[in-house]
Amino acid sequence: MNRRSSDPDQRPHVLIVGGGYVGLYAAFGLRRAVRRGRCRVTVVDPRSYMTYQPFLPEAAAGSVEPRHVVVALRKVLPHASVLNGRVTKVDHANRTVTVDTKAGDTATLGYDHIVIAAGSVSRTLPIPGLAEHGIGFKYIEEAIGLRNHVLDQLDLAASTADAKRREAALRFVFVGGGYAGVEAMSELEDMARYACRFYRDSAGRPQIDPAEMGWVLVEASERILPEVDEDMGRYTVECLRDRGIDVRLSTRLVSAVDGRIVLDDGLEFPASTLVWTAGVRPSPVVANTDLPLDDRGRVRAQADLEVIGADRAWAAGDCAAVPDLTRPGEFCSPSAQHAVRQARLLAANIDRRLRGKTLKNYRHANVGSVATLGLHKGVAQVYGVKVRGWPAWFMHRTYHVSRMPTLNRKIRIVADWTLALFFRREVVSLGSLHQPRETFREVAGSG
Ligand SMILES: Cc1cc2nc3c(=O)[nH]c(=O)nc-3n(C[C@H](O)[C@H](O)[C@H](O)COP(=O)(O)OP(=O)(O)OC[C@H]3O[C@@H](n4cnc5c(N)ncnc54)[C@H](O)[C@@H]3O)c2cc1C
Repeated sequence: MNRRSSDPDQRPHVLIVGGGYVGLYAAFGLRRAVRRGRCRVTVVDPRSYMTYQPFLPEAAAGSVEPRHVVVALRKVLPHASVLNGRVTKVDHANRTVTVDTKAGDTATLGYDHIVIAAGSVSRTLPIPGLAEHGIGFKYIEEAIGLRNHVLDQLDLAASTADAKRREAALRFVFVGGGYAGVEAMSELEDMARYACRFYRDSAGRPQIDPAEMGWVLVEASERILPEVDEDMGRYTVECLRDRGIDVRLSTRLVSAVDGRIVLDDGLEFPASTLVWTAGVRPSPVVANTDLPLDDRGRVRAQADLEVIGADRAWAAGDCAAVPDLTRPGEFCSPSAQHAVRQARLLAANIDRRLRGKTLKNYRHANVGSVATLGLHKGVAQVYGVKVRGWPAWFMHRTYHVSRMPTLNRKIRIVADWTLALFFRREVVSLGSLHQPRETFREVAGSG
């Protein structure tokens, strides 16, 4: 399929690779230019929604409904066209991209401006057993899958007489102590601890003692949460250890073959849950472009977000190396904070270029970080002010709900939290969601 030449629409075509933070906000920022006939916009993404990743830990823990942390692209971008597919190649010299569409076709799309907004993927290492047993924590599918998996493991532990299976079911290992790993583990541990109270035998005796669960956080460096100062990182380690979480610093995962976890400090144990949150690398598509890349594989952008030496190619977010003008010589960190702001400026700069105006540079000093450590627990460092415990958790919630795209989603999330005040969180596992045809197949096969 070739969609290149026969397009009668003569407006400059802005093609956005990726519909995450940067893709959504850049397309949204171009709505006025589209309405005034200055351009048309296509967003290409395999998913039809943008994921608000900072809420993934709460979605995994059942504090918010998973559907409420994603935003349907077609609904919020009525002025743009959304194509579900994966861009596999960008040929900027010829202004074309190759897309593997959801329908299974290969399409070639032409463009006048391209925005590389493909974000990042988990940065993995060639550790034996990791690909077979590990799961990442970047997408809503992973958050829902992990939630169901953790609750399934409690079901399994309560229903088996096999001590070895029970031991493996109750071991949960997270590798990587950045905010994604720490928040995901803290929220899930909190949820699992709460869920344990509902496991009782017919005499009413508890079937799972929370102390029997083993939650292990493995971090290769000497500290966790590099986004905040060292004392805040130490405070977080203490909080986690007080909850019985085994935080292992300066430690690496060596092997996970057959679900047997081996750490380089000599610890070995079976675990059915292995979550990999040890950093990110640019989406693989950026390596298949004719755009300049830095030594980390990111697209090299100027401060005005145009790609160096590539007229009308733009890049921002996790897959781009954007100079941080507030810290000369350094680049912006991969964070939502930068992604959203860069996307807004990028859209404005494309519009400026369309109108023949001068571009502006991106300049934003990181304001800090807020992280949840489970219900009513958190850590925050904003504008240099350090906050711990309940106030930090409250800041995390209020900050992120204020940043959540669309009023609709903000209201739904606040409603989820309000309902949880009265009815507590949901702890039901819908593990069978992942094989919805299984029961029918069994019945149909036996009939
Ligand atoms: C659990 C978690 C918690 C986080 N918490 C915070 C936080 O508290 N504060 C903060 O500032 N940051 C946080 N972040 C980081 C933040 O979410 C990212 O920095 C941000 O999402 C980057 O935006 P992006 O647009 O570059 O990438 P993304 O939002 O990841 O979007 C990339 C999009 O590109 C699409 N894509 C990928 N490859 C292709 C392709 N070949 N073709 C077409 N489309 C493609 C993907 O499907 C995706 O939709 C968190 C991240 C995680 C995982």
